Amino acid sequence: MKVIGLIGGMSWESTAEYYRLLNELTRRRLGGLHSARCVLYSVDFAEIEQLQVHGRWDEAGQVLADAARSLESAGADMVLICTNTMHKVAGQVEAAVRVPLLHLADATADAVRAAGVRKVGLLGTAFTMEQDFYRARLEAGGLGVCVPDTGGRALVHRVIYEELCLGIARSASRTEFQRIIRDLAAAGAEGIILGCTEIELLIGQQDSPVPVFPTTRLHAEAAINTALAE
Ligand code: GLU
Repeated sequence: MKVIGLIGGMSWESTAEYYRLLNELTRRRLGGLHSARCVLYSVDFAEIEQLQVHGRWDEAGQVLADAARSLESAGADMVLICTNTMHKVAGQVEAAVRVPLLHLADATADAVRAAGVRKVGLLGTAFTMEQDFYRARLEAGGLGVCVPDTGGRALVHRVIYEELCLGIARSASRTEFQRIIRDLAAAGAEGIILGCTEIELLIGQQDSPVPVFPTTRLHAEAAINTALAE
């Protein structure tokens, strides 16, 4: 079994979910007392969030690149960045290590295509929904991508940082997300990417008329498939 290296803490609420999923998936595949071989480097999210807000992505990339180097020294055979947003600096992280980076957008695009979905609605932070680093990667994978309107994007972004990353799941926010998802489906989205690793702590398949693609779970599944490959 290969060793999975996790750059986490963004936020730790979703990193805890990664840890649980990696171990559950390993037990399901191997049975008995088997669990995932993994190393976690968990950052202080307050520092990263400030760098995001001030557009200091290069410095944030340095922090994550250092984390990746630590994981590699600790024996990781692959590196995962446990947040969609910070894939903005995926190139910097990838360049810092010899082991492969398992890109979250690639794992997601693979699952979306396998489900026969061609046009997806993307929910995530404003960075993920509005900038190119993530959408372009999905589009390069052959997918059409649509996002909520300005008000919807602001709501989703606010709920991520002010609630979900703090461990708060409000039913009023779930209702708002359900409305936004319905609007995206009405606009032609055949599936919805939960493109922020905390959204699946609030939203599940039952909240959407079209298939949802939970990125934390999909990333963990891709990691386990790689770790257990012959
Ligand atoms: N975990 C979130 C994501 O997947 C947001 C936190 C962050 O800004 O990294 O995008």
